[in-house]
Amino acid sequence: MALSTALTQDLDAHLDDLVELYQEFHRSPELSMQEHATAARIKELVEGHGYDAFLCGGTGVVATLVNGDGPVVAYRADIDGLPIAEDTGADFASTAQGTLPDGTAVPVMHGCGHDTHISVGLETARLLAEHRDLWAGTAVFLFQPGEETSAGAAAMLEDGVWDKAPRPSAVFGQHLWPGVAGTVNVSVGTAMAMANSLEVTVRGKQAHGSQPENAIDPVVLGAFMVTRLQTVVSREISARDAVVLTIATFHAGLKDNIIPDKAVFSINVRSFDEDVRATVLAAIERIVRAESAAAGAPEPEIRQMYEFPRVYNDPALTSSLMESFRDELGQDAVLETPAVTGSEDVGRFGDAIGVPYTYWFFGGHTAESVEAGVAGNHSPMFLPDDVRTALRTGVRAALTALVSHLQT
Ligand SMILES: [Zn+2]
Ligand SMILES: [Zn+2]
Repeated sequence: MALSTALTQDLDAHLDDLVELYQEFHRSPELSMQEHATAARIKELVEGHGYDAFLCGGTGVVATLVNGDGPVVAYRADIDGLPIAEDTGADFASTAQGTLPDGTAVPVMHGCGHDTHISVGLETARLLAEHRDLWAGTAVFLFQPGEETSAGAAAMLEDGVWDKAPRPSAVFGQHLWPGVAGTVNVSVGTAMAMANSLEVTVRGKQAHGSQPENAIDPVVLGAFMVTRLQTVVSREISARDAVVLTIATFHAGLKDNIIPDKAVFSINVRSFDEDVRATVLAAIERIVRAESAAAGAPEPEIRQMYEFPRVYNDPALTSSLMESFRDELGQDAVLETPAVTGSEDVGRFGDAIGVPYTYWFFGGHTAESVEAGVAGNHSPMFLPDDVRTALRTGVRAALTALVSHLQT
C-alpha cells in the first residue's frame, strides 16, 4: 500500500521544521544512559501531540496513542550519542561534553544518526496523531536510550515496558547508514550479527626494565594472546560460517624501562550462529588461559563487557513490508541486502514477548557522495549530506510500516 496523500502532503509542509528538529538534537547529544535532556524534550513533544508518555528504563520514553479498536504496533527509535569529537564542519555541529561511567571527560557527538532516528520517530508520531481518520488501533513509540552500549533495551524491559505499555503484535525500527537518501535496505531473516565484547586483564610480574629475568612480562604475554587469537577464525571456524574477531584496544605500562604488572585488551566478536559463537568464546577462554599458563603467569581475568543479540527479521512480516515499501517509495528504492556484521539491541523488544519485528536501513547521502565514498557511522565526519531526503524517506517508511498494520 502507498500512504494517503494527506499524510505525505502534511509531511512535506513540515519538512523545514523536521530538518530544524534534527539539527536541534544533533547539537545536543548525550552519552548512553545519560540522555536526560533528550528524553525530557522527546516527552514534551509527544505529549504535545496528544500521546500518553512515561519515562522507562531511566532515560527511555514510551509514548502511546490509542485510536479506537484495532491492533497494537510498536516503533522503536534509539536516542544516544557517542564519545566522539565531531569533525564534520557543520554549522550545527556538536560541542557537547560528557562523562563516561569511569569518570573520563569526553566530547559527545551524534555520530551514528540517532538524531535522525529521534526526529523521524517524533514526526511519525505527530502525523499519526494528526490523521487519526486514516488508521485504527494503538501506536506505541519506544524512544530507547543506550543502544551503543547494549544497555537500553534491556533497561526498558527490566523496567517492565511490556507491563506498562500495550503489547504490540509487531515491532518496527530503522537505522540511518551511508547509503543513498531515498532508498531503504532490508534483510529477510538474519539482519544483523550477534556481538560479544570481552575485556582481558593479563597478569604478569613487575620488574625493572633491565631485569626481565625478575619479571613475567605481560606485554609479551599479551602479544602472544593477541597473535594466537587471530587463529580462532582462520583455523577453528569453517569457511561457511562468518565470524569477526577484532582486538582494537591494548593498554600496558607507563615507561620504557618499567615492565608493568598487567596488560589490558578488549576483544569484539561478531557472529550469526549460536553454536559458532559458543565455539569462538570457548576458544578465546582456552587460548588466554593456556598462554598465561605457558608463561607461568597468574590467572588472567576475562570479563564480558556487553553483548548484543542477533537481529532476526521475521520473513513473512518483512516480505510483506517490502511490498508496501515498494508501493510507497518505488521499486528501485527498496533493496534487499544480506545480513550486516553490525549489531543492535532492537531485537530484545520483540524477542522478550515472542512477537515478530523488522528492522531496516535508510540512506542519508546523495548518490554522487556515495559513489565518491562517505564517512561511515561512528566516524567524527559522519553526517548525512542529503538529510532532507533521508528524513522524508525515514518518515514515509515508518508510516508505511505502522499504517499498513493499523488499517481501518
Ligand atoms: Zn546506531
Ligand atoms: Zn552506532
